[in-house]
Amino acid sequence: MIEQIIRSRRVVTTLFIGPASVHISNGKIAAVREWDDIPSGTPLTDAGSSVVMPGNVDAHVHVNEPGRTEWEGYVTATRAAAAGGVTTIVDMPLNSIPPTTTLGGFDEKLASAEGKCSVDVAFWGGVVPGNTAELAPLIERGVRGFKCFLIHSGVDEFPHVTESDLRIAMPEIERLGSVLLVHAEVPGPIDAAAASLAGLDPREYDTFLRSRPRESENEAISLMIRLCRETGCRVHIVHHSSSDALPMLRAAKKEGLPLTLETCPHYLTFAAEEVPDGATHFKCCPPVRERENRERLWEAVTDGTIDMIVSDHSPCTPALKLQESGDFMDAWGGIAALQFGLPVMWTNLKERGLGIAELTRLMSAQPAKLAGLDDRKGKLAAGFDADIVIWNPEKQFTVVPEIIEHRHKLTPYSGMQLVGVVETAFVGGAIVYQNGAVVSDMPNGRLITD
Ligand SMILES: [Zn+2]
Repeated sequence: MIEQIIRSRRVVTTLFIGPASVHISNGKIAAVREWDDIPSGTPLTDAGSSVVMPGNVDAHVHVNEPGRTEWEGYVTATRAAAAGGVTTIVDMPLNSIPPTTTLGGFDEKLASAEGKCSVDVAFWGGVVPGNTAELAPLIERGVRGFKCFLIHSGVDEFPHVTESDLRIAMPEIERLGSVLLVHAEVPGPIDAAAASLAGLDPREYDTFLRSRPRESENEAISLMIRLCRETGCRVHIVHHSSSDALPMLRAAKKEGLPLTLETCPHYLTFAAEEVPDGATHFKCCPPVRERENRERLWEAVTDGTIDMIVSDHSPCTPALKLQESGDFMDAWGGIAALQFGLPVMWTNLKERGLGIAELTRLMSAQPAKLAGLDDRKGKLAAGFDADIVIWNPEKQFTVVPEIIEHRHKLTPYSGMQLVGVVETAFVGGAIVYQNGAVVSDMPNGRLITD
């Protein structure tokens, strides 16, 4: 029996964007039908001409709970997601304590997330030196794949791996049919750059930019392409920034290697030349680079080299951002923006002549596929979860602290005027956000472990 219907003049179906009605039963989409195919008596949400599309899937979120819940947590992160039209997040294995590098660590995380989530939450595991024996049990318990670092991760309990560690872990991940997510910076060029920084002002963004040169990413990616080819293990490059590495990534994809990459709204929006002195809320690793680099990244988004866009939401306490001293070199690196991915990207895409179909592909379908959720998420189609966002693509709003649901309100998008207002978000057919408020009496999000 059809329990409810959502319709609009602009529904993003798998075939077209236009008038349609989405029929929902048991938390899933039963069918997508003609706009006026509404059986009498069925509850109807008529979204007028607002866009009705699959909720965004954000495959790169650091929730930080348990252990660093003062940085962010399941309640606040998933409320921010709901308010931003993100109906599924995939949590990163680090910054929580314990990290998700052992079965025990994952069980602790699942227990701490239970009953708190406004949207659905899936989980990445982690690869650290010596934990290869944990990978199969973690997959069995439900992680979607594994993240590793090739350089210090920022937290000591999640050590980075070297090529020799990967030669042990990657064949195992390949055997498990899983995927390795890689923070692609290697230490060599960063260590070499450190010597040239003496005497430079740590409040200037350029000092920080010099400390994380493109070569560090380029070398890491070259290594990962080689290991991908040798082991056959699926590789996904997270938060890609260096445009110099795009030609080799294009060539690797053309060769048919099982390789994907993501970038983040901040790399596509900001430019190093425009970051004010002391504005440490713009600090992340790898860094936001020059304007010219950003334009090359946009070419890669347009030609499909960059497969998807995710937030890399990685907040911390305001104190760790060292706002007073404005010291880029010592401040925590991580940008908080989970709630604003959809409007930030829509504002960008519109300016560049791209459309809602691209938005859906980059922020729903492709991240769902990466996380192995493409049998249930990322599309409005029969059998998929009724995770749906209704939003107005013409309306504007300004990012002000009062509307921010993240635990901490510091974000580089502060004060920006964005196009695209999320009106209603559904998770499994239930409303989780409407009229500017998160519905919080009964968190509806599920923990995805199957
Ligand atoms: Zn991250």
